[in-house]
Amino acid sequence: MAKKFIIGVDLGGTNLKIALLDLKYRIKDKNILSTQVCLKKENLISTIADAINKIIENNRIKRTDILGIGLGLPGPVDIKRGLVHFLPNIAGYTEVNFAQILKRRLGLPVSLDNDANLMCLAEYKLGAAKGFKNIVCLTLGTGVGGGIIIEGKLYRGSNDAGGEIGHIPINERGPRCNCGGIACLETYIGNNSILREARRLFRRDISLEELSSLAKKPDKRAQALWSKIGGRLGVALVGVVNLLNPDCIVIGGGVAGAGKILFARLREVISRQAMSVQSRHLKIVKARLGNNAGLIGAAILVKERVRL
Ligand SMILES: [Zn+2]
Repeated sequence: MAKKFIIGVDLGGTNLKIALLDLKYRIKDKNILSTQVCLKKENLISTIADAINKIIENNRIKRTDILGIGLGLPGPVDIKRGLVHFLPNIAGYTEVNFAQILKRRLGLPVSLDNDANLMCLAEYKLGAAKGFKNIVCLTLGTGVGGGIIIEGKLYRGSNDAGGEIGHIPINERGPRCNCGGIACLETYIGNNSILREARRLFRRDISLEELSSLAKKPDKRAQALWSKIGGRLGVALVGVVNLLNPDCIVIGGGVAGAGKILFARLREVISRQAMSVQSRHLKIVKARLGNNAGLIGAAILVKERVRL
């Protein structure tokens, strides 16, 4: 019987999102849960399974109409075995076979991938990078994720763990990163370090949204901080541009909302420091699919793998 739906799941450091999509990747229903609240419950995977059951029941869908479940996880994964090696920003999930456990609980096929790979896939097929062939995608949040498409295909590396742009070191010495490395890009431009710097600058707690709107006012201190972040990101991307010679870089996630200043500084650093042949025709664009990119990518993963 022809399948009609796909379930997309996107686990992030902040939110767990579950969506029902049709085979044209249109979101029919979506639930957002707090990851922190889910982690307080006994078992994160059971919570995910319950949330999937709930969305199936609420929409009165037959299980036989579902092609599969696509799951995006914020860490390095083993795609064939369906497990995550570890989650840098969620403790306690080392070598856990999410796909097998969920499959057993739900009786549906489960495919999983790194969340940034899925975002990259979505932006490539349906979003800001549509029409390009060599793409680097970044998602800026609690963690800094990355995905790479080479000649129209997702590049995963020999252990499915490639594309970790957030863990490119930008200094010889610096803060220790959750991944075990030192001075990774993520330790400089991850949400937590931006908020820490903002707190020092304004001598109070300040949210990323407020920091963005202050910069638009314009508040000189907020502008200088976003410019500094754009500069650091730029340094890492100069290396990426020289190495991979992409035709398009897509930047998404909360920090991308800082907009003009961040992008202006980033472009300036790349045009000044990257090799001219690689950077001349490069497009740097803002992600288009927003918070739904991971869910749409998860659905693409299911559909492309199963092949109708
Ligand atoms: Zn790292």
